Amino acid sequence: MSAIKKKRSSKAKSGFIREDWRGRVDPAFLRWWSSRKENAALGKITDPKQFEQKHTDWLRKAAAANRAFNEAVRQKKNSVATKIQAAIVKPLDIEGPLAIPPPPSGRDAVFYPMNPELCPIFRDIVFLKYGITFRDLIWQIDIEKNATAHRKLMAVHRDYWGLLTKKRFADLKLKFSLDHFQILTSGLDFGLDKLTPDELADCLDEICPCSQKHSPEYLKKLCPRIKRACNLLTENQ
Ligand SMILES: [Zn+2]
Repeated sequence: MSAIKKKRSSKAKSGFIREDWRGRVDPAFLRWWSSRKENAALGKITDPKQFEQKHTDWLRKAAAANRAFNEAVRQKKNSVATKIQAAIVKPLDIEGPLAIPPPPSGRDAVFYPMNPELCPIFRDIVFLKYGITFRDLIWQIDIEKNATAHRKLMAVHRDYWGLLTKKRFADLKLKFSLDHFQILTSGLDFGLDKLTPDELADCLDEICPCSQKHSPEYLKKLCPRIKRACNLLTENQ
């Protein structure tokens, strides 16, 4: 009898938390990340016909979710997430801007090979793997002649090559998972940092593409680590 009572009480608490955090997080943010979670789930469909149909349905819904989210981002003044991403991909002082030639008229699109180290995704991997920027890593290599930093750069090249060929981001060994880093930093602009660890875990269970169960204890450790790394990033801008 007491076990039944305990179970009911726990259910009631969970329902209360869900309703509460939903009112404090921007709906456009929740909708966009839910859409990304649905996209990740599509990868588990093995039947090609079923995949095609589900993917077409997803694209239609995702386009609307993406438009609403982009508009919400556009309206944010002093977006924290934008500053964080700009710091991660910031070019070296002597790098020029990317100059992609316009497509020649009357011809199909032209594909240009790109230096991996110039790709934003390469610089994302540097930060997610080591918690430092590409600029800092190159400084350690080229100015300080730091052999460990050079080994790190080579490891990022191997990860990048893995992504070009057969690996997914989830297969890489990173300090911060891409999904969690992006959700938690993007969420700083949309109310996620106002949630308690329990509410945050409930929220991520619902919207995170990793589809794992998120424990409040894990998030209590992860959030301060990400905040510290991001503070260092934005303070040095
Ligand atoms: Zn997750």
